[in-house]
Amino acid sequence: VKKTPLIDLPKDVDFIISRLNSEGYRADIVGGPVRDFLLGNIPDDYDITTNALPTEVEEVFFDKRIVETGIKHGTVSLILNGKSYEITTYRIDGEYKDSRHPESVSFTKEIEEDLSRRDFTMNAIAYNPRDGITDPFFGREDIEKGIIRAVGDPEKRFTEDALRILRGIRFSSRLGFSIEKETRAAILSKAYLLSNVSSERIYVEWKKLLEGKHALTVFDSYRDVIKVFLPEVADSPLPDPEKFERLGYTERLLSLFLLSGAGAEDFSAAMRRLRTDNKIRELGERALSSVGKFDTKTNSGIGRILNSVGEEAARLVLSLEELVSSSCSAPWELFEKYIENCHPYRVNDLSVSGKDLSEIGAKGREIGDILSSLLFAVIDGELENKKEPLLAYARKVLSRNKNI
Ligand code: ATP
Ligand code: MG
Repeated sequence: VKKTPLIDLPKDVDFIISRLNSEGYRADIVGGPVRDFLLGNIPDDYDITTNALPTEVEEVFFDKRIVETGIKHGTVSLILNGKSYEITTYRIDGEYKDSRHPESVSFTKEIEEDLSRRDFTMNAIAYNPRDGITDPFFGREDIEKGIIRAVGDPEKRFTEDALRILRGIRFSSRLGFSIEKETRAAILSKAYLLSNVSSERIYVEWKKLLEGKHALTVFDSYRDVIKVFLPEVADSPLPDPEKFERLGYTERLLSLFLLSGAGAEDFSAAMRRLRTDNKIRELGERALSSVGKFDTKTNSGIGRILNSVGEEAARLVLSLEELVSSSCSAPWELFEKYIENCHPYRVNDLSVSGKDLSEIGAKGREIGDILSSLLFAVIDGELENKKEPLLAYARKVLSRNKNI
């Protein structure tokens, strides 16, 4: 077994592994962190795999804080210095009946068996300082070549758990790896099985896919997969890659809807179907329904869009307009100045209140109407946001109202 000098374990991870070793068990880091190390990156999370049973892990760390996160599946979490480490017993997944969950899981003493249930060769590598790298499926070679390859028969693996299909393409989007030919063929032929996977799990992977550096390439190559859960955007024309690269997740998502000609209602329906949180749904709805409706090159247009959808959605609108326009940049400068100078765009930003208006004789609905006309006069630069001129204007409106 080759030692890998690249892998330098943090103190706490080293402690976990050596404590298990000294009690006669084997423990390795596995999956994501090993892959990240081999790619030359420092992992954020360390998953540990061991031949100790969950109860044995609890005994070994009797003096530490343990959370029984998924004890039925063999996982306990150990908390050290405020960080949580998942320690999972070697596991074999039972039969999958619904492309979702294994019917049962059982524990094993063979690390190779645990590695063989994992999705891709690059995720099926284990490492500990004593035994070095364990890599029965040659994941290291695939990492070096930049290839994503299913462990075992890809059709079988995607039929067992269709989420792996989406995981495969999201890794490709993040890492820029290509997908091995048979794995790719199985991704395409089994994509329909994604309809059995829960919306929540799909959405997590889809978000990671779209956040990836290579999102557009992957999107374009796997439209048939995306069609299964997000038909609204699957045929979208490709956005300008340079502009797209600068966008965050929400902007990227909305831009695909915009370019597809799907509106706020389609977006909303899609987000409900994927069970996203309300925030992104509402924000996106507001943004998509305002694209192209305001003249964001003028102060009064900026005030109006801010008034209509709020700052966060207005920023999205500007980004989207920038993406689809032929010119390079949206009028950000004007927008930022508007915000920076605290130029009013809400009734609450005015230097008069409803109370001030009722004191000069305004009543009921009239109060709201006058506040709103004051606001738009201020937005349009016809009126200064100072108490005196605002009240003078309000008095004029009031006397006009009386004469009608
Ligand atoms: P990330 O850096 O995004 O967390 P990861 O590879 O660590 O990537 P996780 O979802 O944290 O992904 O899963 C940890 C490990 O568990 C994976 O590396 C893989 O070995 C295994 N795994 C996760 N999901 C599946 C799955 N659906 N089928 C098979 N193995 C899986
Ligand atoms: Mg992980």
